[in-house]
Order: sequence, then structure tokens, then C-alpha cells
Amino acid sequence: MDLGIQGKNALVCAASKGLGRGCAEALAEAGVNLTICARTEKDIVDTANEIRSKYKVSVESVACDITTSEGREAALKTSGPVDILINNAGGPPPGQFRDWTREDWIKAVDANMLTAIELIKSTVDEMISRKFGRIINITSAAVKSPISILGLSNGARMGLTGFCAGIARDTVRDGVTINGLLPGPFETDRLLGNLKVRAEAAGVSEEEMYKTAAAENPAGRFGNSEEFGKTCAFLCSAHAGFINGQNILMDGGAFRSSL
Ligand code: NAP
Repeated sequence: MDLGIQGKNALVCAASKGLGRGCAEALAEAGVNLTICARTEKDIVDTANEIRSKYKVSVESVACDITTSEGREAALKTSGPVDILINNAGGPPPGQFRDWTREDWIKAVDANMLTAIELIKSTVDEMISRKFGRIINITSAAVKSPISILGLSNGARMGLTGFCAGIARDTVRDGVTINGLLPGPFETDRLLGNLKVRAEAAGVSEEEMYKTAAAENPAGRFGNSEEFGKTCAFLCSAHAGFINGQNILMDGGAFRSSL
């Protein structure tokens, strides 16, 4: 299917690997020119080179921390006018709520709520003036089905979700949709790192923990970045202009509900 977004410009945040990279690749496959960022320079430059040579689109890389104002400024300076914004950043660490200080909360809210809001603020009016825009926030299944040790993530991401639920109803009239994409367990470095910690705590091998955790999902496996990216690209497509203000859960059906 032609996604109808060839030649558009996308800013994909936190995209040297994992879910962000999956989104960048799928958009590149659809002919979208990219600006991608991550903190580690070598990784983001290598990723940009690989995507550019594979899909023959323009790919600019920016080594920056997108959760800082300097980082956002650098990314936006490189990207120029953005038609498609993919908001993403590393998630806050797990823990116990009694241990979290005000500083921990500010950090989480800054990274997983205010960073996305600032980027939306910087790009949405230009999208509105061009009568086309797609904004996807990569959040988490925890927005729908919270996990207590991920309270910093639940709280900050819920704030972003609530904010976007309001403004999405204002922007869509001018062709700009805003949606959340909520990953359940996807096999990325982050998930494998978490499994390693769980395996050590349980005194089992990493392989055993991997098999047990994958089997817990109704699909009997973890998701992969490619399927995540292609879903994101569809939501950014010309065909998805009537999908707005939604939070699309990709978790293999782990969250049990009829609707
Ligand atoms: P990942 O495989 O660890 O990849 C994270 C990517 O983001 C890397 O490219 C990393 O590069 C970049 N990054 C992290 N912090 C950044 C920052 N401050 N500024 C710029 N780039 C940054 O992680 P992932 O699994 O794709 O997760 C992506 C997001 O989805 C996270 O917020 C995570 O909490 C959420 N999520 C993931 C899952 C899952 O199962 N994978 C489930 C629910 C939610 P550098 O380190 O070089 O910056």
C-alpha cells in the first residue's frame, strides 16, 4: 500500500535503536525524509547511514538529549519544518513510590511529558498552516494498565495523554492528528536489560526468563520493532486522517478487555 506520505519530513526522537528506530525505518520505507536523534553520536550516525543507504531518502542525524531544551533546539534546527513528529525518549526507572523525591518526579515529567509537549508546541502551528500533520507519542501499555513499580512512567505519560486528548480535537480540523502508540512488551535492548535484572533476582538463566516472559503474553512472544514501526507509519499515512485522539495498544492482547 502506498502510504501517501512520500517526500514529507519527519522528526523521529530517540531513534538509534528499538521502537524509535522501527518507526524511522518504516517511515523511510514510505519515502519520508528523516531527522533522527539519540544521545550516543556513533549510534545515531551509524543508524542514519544505514537507513539512508537502504531506503534512498534524506536522513539527518543529531546527537542530543531530546529531554533538554538545547537538545530540542538542535533537533528542530536540523529538521526544518516538520510534517510528522514521533515523540519518544527513554523511560523513567522502576522503583517504589516512597523512595521517589520531587527531583525524580520532575525528571520523569520533563522527559516523558513536557519534552513531547514542547516539541508539539514548536511544530504544530506550521503543520496546521500546511493542513497536514501527524503527531505520534510513543508512551506505554502502562498508561492503560498501570504497573506500580513504574509509577513515574504511569504518572508522566498519563499527563501527556491527557494533554493530547484535549488538543487533538482542535488540530484535526486542519488535518493534524495526534495519537498515542502504547507498546506492551517489545523485544528491544530495554526489554532485554529488564529481563536480565529479573533473571538475576529470580536466580534463573536469562534464556529461561526470556521464555517464561514471552509465554506469559497471549501471543506467546514479544513484539518486534518492525511491526511497531509499520503501525506507526500507517498512523502517519494519508489514509489515517480520521484516526485522531486515540491511544492504540500494541500488546498482543495482554490487556484483557472486550472493548
Ligand atoms: P531502547 O531499545 O533502549 O532504545 C531507546 C532509544 O532512545 C535509543 O536510541 C536511545 O539512544 C534513545 N534515547 C534514550 N533516551 C534519550 C534521550 N534522552 N534523548 C535522545 N535519545 C534518547 O528502548 P525502547 O524499548 O525502544 O523504548 C522506547 C520507549 O518506549 C521508552 O520510553 C520505553 O520506556 C517505552 N516502552 C518500551 C517498551 C518495550 O517493551 N520495549 C514497553 C513499554 C514502553 P541513546 O541511549 O544513545 O540516547
